[in-house]
This record gives sequence, structure tokens and C-alpha cells, in this order.
Amino acid sequence: MKYDLIVVGGGPGGLMAAKTAAEDGLKVVLIERKKDLTKIHRACAQLFYTHKVTASPDSEAGKAHADGYIEPVSVELLADKCRFHFPGPGFSIDYDGSYTPCYHWIDLSPSKYIIHRHKPYDKIWALYYDKEVFLAGLLASVQKAGVEVLQETVAMGAEDTPDGVKVRIRGKSGERTLEASKAIAADGRESIIVDSLGLNNSRQVMTPPIKILAYEMEGVETNLPPFSFLWIAIPSLSPMNFGVGIAGENRVLSWVLTTSNLSATTIFDNFMKYPSFVPWFRNARIVKKTAAGSDVGLRTPIREPVAGNVVIVGDAGAPVETWIQGALACGYLAVKAIEKELNGQKGYQEYIDWWQRAFAFNDPHYWKVAAVFPLNQICTDEEVDYIYSLFEGRVGCAMGLIANNLDLIKKGRPELYEKLIKTGPPPAGS
Ligand SMILES: Cc1cc2nc3c(=O)[nH]c(=O)nc-3n(C[C@H](O)[C@H](O)[C@H](O)COP(=O)(O)OP(=O)(O)OC[C@H]3O[C@@H](n4cnc5c(N)ncnc54)[C@H](O)[C@@H]3O)c2cc1C
Repeated sequence: MKYDLIVVGGGPGGLMAAKTAAEDGLKVVLIERKKDLTKIHRACAQLFYTHKVTASPDSEAGKAHADGYIEPVSVELLADKCRFHFPGPGFSIDYDGSYTPCYHWIDLSPSKYIIHRHKPYDKIWALYYDKEVFLAGLLASVQKAGVEVLQETVAMGAEDTPDGVKVRIRGKSGERTLEASKAIAADGRESIIVDSLGLNNSRQVMTPPIKILAYEMEGVETNLPPFSFLWIAIPSLSPMNFGVGIAGENRVLSWVLTTSNLSATTIFDNFMKYPSFVPWFRNARIVKKTAAGSDVGLRTPIREPVAGNVVIVGDAGAPVETWIQGALACGYLAVKAIEKELNGQKGYQEYIDWWQRAFAFNDPHYWKVAAVFPLNQICTDEEVDYIYSLFEGRVGCAMGLIANNLDLIKKGRPELYEKLIKTGPPPAGS
């Protein structure tokens, strides 16, 4: 064998896997299709979540909000850098780029009724960080550890063989096949490796395709507390909420996730013209644009992310996203599992068990409650305003508050209550 390990994909999961394996003495090659893997073209909010994001832990809908990695992590702020700690898997990783603490998480209605998910100014629940700087730091460690990094090289498929794995690649010098004892598929949401191994055949497609567009903007004037993260529900514009992160003085990251037939660009243009939001964007300019999405909707997660000699890492096996931190944890633990297997021990089952408990999307309960009250699809703008106005000043996530206080809506607007319970779950206790 030329290599002990082929890692396909140089995102957070693949880089972490390559670094861990090479530092432990394995001979590793990393395949990445981008010319410069540190440049991100895929939309990402770049938040490092410091708390498990369950805004209303005692409500079903509140629990639904943590979709990615749910093991505890922490951030240590040092003089010149941050250190991200992952006590579950048992590693730490340094980051020396800029960061902004995020204090507020806010739900906004069309007329800007506000619901705070945390008590304002109570705690930092996430850091905005620079994913490109973070990836550059990981790449430097990967190179220092001796990994052969092939950028501008596309993996075209993998074949699991009785004594190893073959990966077909196409690079600047043409096509060839690499061989190794093991491989890691860390090639993201539309993994070619997962597909070529037939692992998508048993996954269900759960949603229509989702388009995602993200803008980094300057000159946005929101009058909201700095360092806030917002979800904005405007049914007349999109069946899904807008996200807006206020990352500093007038600097904003905004994104549209939508299943609408309209393009995400058109939807965002309409958002900037929506009467209550026009003042935000009067002097705004777009400084960077990224996008994401695909022709296929969200797929159910891969239950057992190991196929013979290939281990699946990060978004390659996930319905939505493992988050950066989840992909890192996967990369690290997948390598530890592979090392055990190479030494004749059983490592895969530990990885499978960990994968099934470390991500909210593996809990069937998550899927049951994730769809609670798809407000944008069943309400008008005015109805969303009414519902949010009932909870203004209260702390909790909008869905959790609604699910736990349906009688308030029943008292004020019985017809709206009927509409909600027809689409969502029955009220608690009934
Ligand atoms: C709108 C949006 C907002 C998000 N916000 C956050 C956030 O705030 N915080 C957070 O932690 N996470 C966030 N995420 C999720 C996060 O981006 C992903 O979960 C994370 O990047 C997954 O890492 P990964 O290594 O598994 O895959 P990816 O980051 O997707 O990396 C996969 C890599 O594989 C490469 N690749 C793909 N196919 C091939 C191929 N055939 N051959 C060679 N290379 C290939 C790609 O170029 C890429 O570099 C967000 C995602 C979206 C869409």
C-alpha cells in the first residue's frame, strides 16, 4: 500500500482527520477539489457554539433547535488566541484569528416584535470567528505533520476492496487511482464517496431542495444590540426564515434559506425592500457573496457511518450539518477508530455509537419536533406579528413559547389557534 489513509475533502472534518492521523504516524494523502482549500465558497455563519443550543430545554420545540453537534465544548480566551476544547473526544485546537462574542439571539416578526432566546447580555452563547483563518491554521498543522496535500484534485469515487480501498482521482496531470488501507469520506454534503459506495440508496429525501445565499454586508443600520444573531420570519417573502448576524459596527452577515421557486437573490432583494426593514439597508453594500444548496433536498442521516474500509466524517453523512465543531470531532474520532482497526482492535463500533449520540439529527425525536408549527407556511405576516407580540419581552425560542402557551392564542384569536393545531402537534396535556 502506498498510503495508510486517503482523506477525501479538506474542510474542517478532513483536515482534522489528516492532521490527527499524520501526527500519530500514519502515511496520509488529502484530496481537495478547491485550488485553495482555505477559501470558503459555501455559505457558513461561522459561529462557534459554546452552548448546546436548546433555548427552551423543557419544551419539545425548544429541544428541536440543536440540529448539529450536541456534546459540550468550551472556548478559552488567551492573550493572543482562542483555544477550543472538546472534552468528549478529548482534544483541543487553537485559533488565532479575529472573533466576536455573540450575546443576543433574537427572533423577529415582520413588524419587528422581538423575542430574546436568552436573557439579554446574560452570556456569550457563540463566537463569530473567521473560518478561512481557522482552516488555514489547520492546513498548516496538516502540512507540518507531513500529509501529502493534493489540491485542485477531484475524487471521483471509491471502491472498497477486501484488503483496502481504491479512490479514483482527477488532477492537473490527469486521472489515476490511489490505494490505501483505509479512507475517510469528508467531502461534505454531496459526498461523491458516499454516493459511489451506494450509501445514499437507503437514505430518504425529506425536503424539497433548499437554496442558500449569504451576503457579508457593510453599512447596515439595524439599531439592534451589536453582536446579535437574528431569525426573521416573513411568510409573504419566504417559507423559511432569514438569518442575520450582526458581527460588528454596521457589519452584517445575512442569509436566506428557502424552498421557494423564486431565487434566493430575489427573495433577499424583496427583504431589503420590505417596509419595516428598508431603513436597515439604505446605505448597505454587499462585500462578499457565498451560496450553498443542491438539487436534492435534505437526506436522512447515515445510521452507521462506516462502509468496509471507508469511514464517513462530518456533513458527508449528515442530513443538514454537523457544524464545524462536529466535523472536527468526527475527523478526530474517525482516525482513532481506524487506528484501532489497523491494530487489530475494534474501533468502528465505538465511532458508530458516538456518531449516533453526538448529533441531534440522529435522534428520531428531533425530526418529530423540528417541523412544529412551520409558521411561515401557515400564517400571514400579520398573524406572525400577532403571535410574536404576545411574547415580546419574554425569554425563550419563538417555537417553544408558542407550543407552551397555545391557550394565549386560543383566547385572543381562536381561528388562528385552530389553524395552528391543525398543522402542528396537539397542545400539551390534550
Ligand atoms: C448557511 C449555513 C450556515 C452555517 N453556519 C454554521 C455555523 O455558524 N457554525 C458551524 O459550526 N457550522 C455552520 N454551518 C455548517 C458547516 O459549514 C458544516 O457543517 C461544516 O463545514 C462541515 O464540515 P465538513 O468538513 O464535513 O464538510 P465541508 O466543510 O463541506 O468540506 C468538504 C470539503 O470537501 C471538498 N470536496 C467536496 N467534494 C469533493 C470531491 N469530490 N473531491 C475532492 N474534494 C471534495 C470541498 O471542496 C470541501 O472543501 C453552516 C452551513 C450552512 C450551509
